[in-house]
Amino acid sequence: MTAYDAIVIGTGQAGPYVTSRLAGAGMKVALIERHAFGGTCVNTGCIPTKTMVASAYAARLAACAAEYGVDVGPVRVDMKRVKARKDEVSKQSRVGLEDWLGHMENCTVYRGQARFESAQEVSVGGERLQAGKIFINVGGRAFVPEMPGIGETPFLTNSSMMSVDFLPKHLIVVGGSYIGLEFGQMFRRFGSEVTIIEMGPRLIGREDEDVSTAVREILEQEGVQVRLNAKCISFARRGGEIAASVDCGGGAPFVQGTHVLLAVGRRPNTDDLGLDKAGIAVDERGYIRVDDQLRTSVPGIWALGDCNGKGAFTHTSYNDGEIVVANLLENDPRRVSDRITAYALYTDPPLGRAGMTEAEIRKSGRKALVGKRPMTRVARAVEKGETQGFMKIAVDAENGDILGAAILGTSGDEVIHSILDVMYAKAPWTVIRRAMHIHPTVSELVPTMLSELRPMD
Ligand SMILES: Cc1cc2nc3c(=O)[nH]c(=O)nc-3n(C[C@H](O)[C@H](O)[C@H](O)COP(=O)(O)OP(=O)(O)OC[C@H]3O[C@@H](n4cnc5c(N)ncnc54)[C@H](O)[C@@H]3O)c2cc1C
Repeated sequence: MTAYDAIVIGTGQAGPYVTSRLAGAGMKVALIERHAFGGTCVNTGCIPTKTMVASAYAARLAACAAEYGVDVGPVRVDMKRVKARKDEVSKQSRVGLEDWLGHMENCTVYRGQARFESAQEVSVGGERLQAGKIFINVGGRAFVPEMPGIGETPFLTNSSMMSVDFLPKHLIVVGGSYIGLEFGQMFRRFGSEVTIIEMGPRLIGREDEDVSTAVREILEQEGVQVRLNAKCISFARRGGEIAASVDCGGGAPFVQGTHVLLAVGRRPNTDDLGLDKAGIAVDERGYIRVDDQLRTSVPGIWALGDCNGKGAFTHTSYNDGEIVVANLLENDPRRVSDRITAYALYTDPPLGRAGMTEAEIRKSGRKALVGKRPMTRVARAVEKGETQGFMKIAVDAENGDILGAAILGTSGDEVIHSILDVMYAKAPWTVIRRAMHIHPTVSELVPTMLSELRPMD
């Protein structure tokens, strides 16, 4: 048995930060990783997908080059080189992290599957480690639903997509949410036929209807087929291809393609961690129950990142690490409830989101004013030839708080921060209204949009 001050399980987005801060404070820390350093974001999530989104953007721009007065000849995408570029960017991050952690003072890195033996003991390989503080950062993986025929159907997930170095002739994407849409648009731009199958009545069902509709139109304009209300999805082999029955109540009853990507959600990596031996409570879907400061049901054990169900993003996981460190080392009682919802969808154009949707505002009963502006009325978007989408913002009609915003348009993922930071500052919307922004940018129209507020329907 080797004794440590702290054990960190997983090198996702929270684990390395927590490790570095605790080790920096002089604690002896054991860090355990069973697979690739950096976890989902670095190896099969944000970094590789956004690298591929960049390749897809280049392909799109090359295909549209003539519109800008530039002749480039026929465009051909070399998927082997797309993958090689993606692998290299991912590798830089993974290797850099592994090297940093491997040389960190007061930190011992273990490779292997961690399992709880008790509330203070964890086994890895043949070894047993003991500590009074344990931090769980085990992340999640693609959820594979029990759809009829799935057992006999070869399918891809976000992880196995990372090995694809060829162009699927017809990619069927099951799941019309964030991951599915990013892959769908990207492979369409590489040259695949793409059909997105969604069980719900619209894409990205958590967004407001106008956002869902605009994203769908953007994808369809590029030739992505979208099948909604696909109630009973099942799979069968059909002449060397895969047929997905969709039972949409309209249109063809099945979609035939060469490859299937399942993008129907994620599940936490908590089923093989021996949580029961430590008495750590999980919810009905396997997410570790935590309080507002990320303490589990067992004193001395915290859960951070995707495995606690409080967020599903790199920034939420990293922020979990900051919250725990602030509480433990900085005498600063930071909480999960301090943070404001923020994320992006990396289709092109991207969607940047902050705060509540209009539907959430209505549910909250607050009286709101809304400003909205199409990207066709944003000079920078017109100049770039990227006028799809719109931006909108909702503010409290009574106290001036900014309640939420959605920017679906060129640079939407960046522009949203000018709104998000004012929300964190708890300043009223009139602060942005009076600000002088730079011309020509997308951000310069945010104050203008705020001068055209009207009551929310
Ligand atoms: C395709 C895709 C695209 C995405 N794009 C974005 C994006 O653009 N922006 C964004 O913010 N988020 C994005 N995400 C989400 C983001 O990747 C995750 O929210 C984030 O990586 C979660 O990090 P984490 O710290 O919770 O855990 P993870 O990064 O999943 O890391 C967990 C680590 O724990 C290890 N581990 C698990 N169990 C054990 C065990 N028992 N013993 C030892 N080690 C173990 C795993 O090997 C892994 O390395 C994307 C996700 C996907 C799938």
